[in-house]
Amino acid sequence: MFCCLEFVDCSPISAGTVTADQEYMPTNIYHLLVFDFAHKIKANAILMNVRKSNTSRRPNHSRHRQSVQSHDSASDNSRVVLNEGKTKNKLKIIPIGGVEEVGENMTVFEYEDDIIVIDMGFAFPDENMPGIDYVIPDTKYLQENKQRIRGVIITHGHLDHIGAVPYILPKIGDPTVYTMPLTAAMIERRLEEFNLMGRSQIQRVDIEQVLNLGGFKIRFFRLNHNIPDSVGLSIKTPAGHVIYATDWKFDHTPVDGKPSDFHKIATLGGEGVTLLMSDSTNAEKPGYCISEKELGETIDRVFRDAKGRVIFATFSSLINRFQQVFDSAAKYDRKVVVTGRSMVASVEIAFGLGILKIPPKLIIRADSAKKLPDDKVVILTTGSQGEEHSALARIARGEHKTVSIKKGDTVVISASPIPGNEHSVAVVMNNLTRQGAKVLYIKNLDIHTSGHAKQEELKLMISLIKPKYFMPIHGEHHMLVAHADLAKDLNIPENNIFIMDNGDVVEVDNNMAKLSDKKIKTGTVFIDGLGVGDVGEVVLRDRRVMAEDGMFVVIMQIDRKTGRLINQPDIISRGFVYMKESEDLLREVKHEVRKVVEVKNGKPREANAAYIRSRVRDSLGEFLFQRTERRPLILPVIIEV
Ligand SMILES: [Zn+2]
Ligand SMILES: [Zn+2]
Repeated sequence: MFCCLEFVDCSPISAGTVTADQEYMPTNIYHLLVFDFAHKIKANAILMNVRKSNTSRRPNHSRHRQSVQSHDSASDNSRVVLNEGKTKNKLKIIPIGGVEEVGENMTVFEYEDDIIVIDMGFAFPDENMPGIDYVIPDTKYLQENKQRIRGVIITHGHLDHIGAVPYILPKIGDPTVYTMPLTAAMIERRLEEFNLMGRSQIQRVDIEQVLNLGGFKIRFFRLNHNIPDSVGLSIKTPAGHVIYATDWKFDHTPVDGKPSDFHKIATLGGEGVTLLMSDSTNAEKPGYCISEKELGETIDRVFRDAKGRVIFATFSSLINRFQQVFDSAAKYDRKVVVTGRSMVASVEIAFGLGILKIPPKLIIRADSAKKLPDDKVVILTTGSQGEEHSALARIARGEHKTVSIKKGDTVVISASPIPGNEHSVAVVMNNLTRQGAKVLYIKNLDIHTSGHAKQEELKLMISLIKPKYFMPIHGEHHMLVAHADLAKDLNIPENNIFIMDNGDVVEVDNNMAKLSDKKIKTGTVFIDGLGVGDVGEVVLRDRRVMAEDGMFVVIMQIDRKTGRLINQPDIISRGFVYMKESEDLLREVKHEVRKVVEVKNGKPREANAAYIRSRVRDSLGEFLFQRTERRPLILPVIIEV
């Protein structure tokens, strides 16, 4: 739908309704964070209490046959089951979003009477969707089968994996969500925003835990990405063993010091894998991702060399990047002001969970920063995409409450612009440089690294897992094809590679997989303001027409008995022509309308409003196109008197 390689890393964690960026958020945890760093443990305790108070959830009726084991048991017999002759039942794997676009990631696994769902993301609209805030996958199939859903597993906390949770969970019977602690906290924050807390259980899993959900046995393994707590999944059923690895890269020196778990990945591969599903976002890019450590050295240099303040803009979900900012700031004796509401929220959650390590008194308020020399200050902010309401855009326009640009500031934009956002980013950059700031961004400094594996890493994953079948996921069609080519280079036969469309079904039976000729009905649901799905293709088409050529309203008073115009039609138009300078055209239009109504309507007879409307629309459309080569939206209004 849109080709945006970095979109997945970049989404703010708050809903789009949040526009006001704030420097300070009056929650207990953030209060502690700013004013008393020695109390990290206290902060953790508060977070736990928040969690506890949210656990008065209603029981989940659909949760039979599921249990959580504390660790992978040694007597793992699933391999034996796999090799046991023909099984009666098939495993079905259905991506219902995420294989025709980067975004809307959601996959359904179905075995016997059991369904599990992996991820529930949304996507941002493309330029053909005026007025749309987000798009989410159509979940009609799951709604019809909700009593069979045994659980939802979320791989990590980016919005293209958790964004649709508040929209979809209630529609599919509020099943339990299983995920790692940071992701759980981010999902809970989203559910809170939607007033949905307490409906679904959000169960935190440990990386070594084994989930048995119906006929599925699920294990987790650590993967690098640019948000902590990203996991891959091993999904076993008697029909076959699937490895699900979305949004990952291999980084031997990540910020959090926890590289991907190669040993476990190789061990899972050794158990025999029927199908590998893997991230295709960067499948067209050769080489490896640069390590976060290298990026950290670049940030270090910037903080060391900047003569004035450093204003560091990035995505509010790039938690690893924040750690690098805090580390470099501490190293060069700079204090950090955190601004932007979604940024504050992310820092708060990750700090509360002990994921971000922030030395005492490193974060200060903006008014305290004013008392410090400029070369002792860092401002960490949202707005790396030039978003109109973001803190950075407001700083650049001189509209931010507490921060204004001065000569000598260094602004770092640590993100690559999502295609379509380049112009907004350039506007922000121009506003900054006009005021004397120096701007560093991806083109003049290596200030961003992707969260998605490039070709050499993708090949290594395939080699470690050694799957019999391969399914590229997480990408537009051309990315999936590029990933499939890599798999072919590694001797996976073309017939064993599934390039899917949303809704396609792969069936796994006795360790053999094939594309089914059946397809699940899927599609896209548009979210516009509070409306979910109430805007469809027809509404969008009208919006596009109006955006391109404007609208043209013809109001006609018609005699009900004779079908004749009572007086001259009235014309209102917006975005079509400047009315005052188009009197001739309007006169002709009125003449044309009269012709259509009175001549084409034939002899005097009772007015047929629907007929007149459609005639006026057609004839006027043709007429206006001939005269202007534009096709405005024509809206005939008939008042019968
Ligand atoms: Zn993603
Ligand atoms: Zn991601």
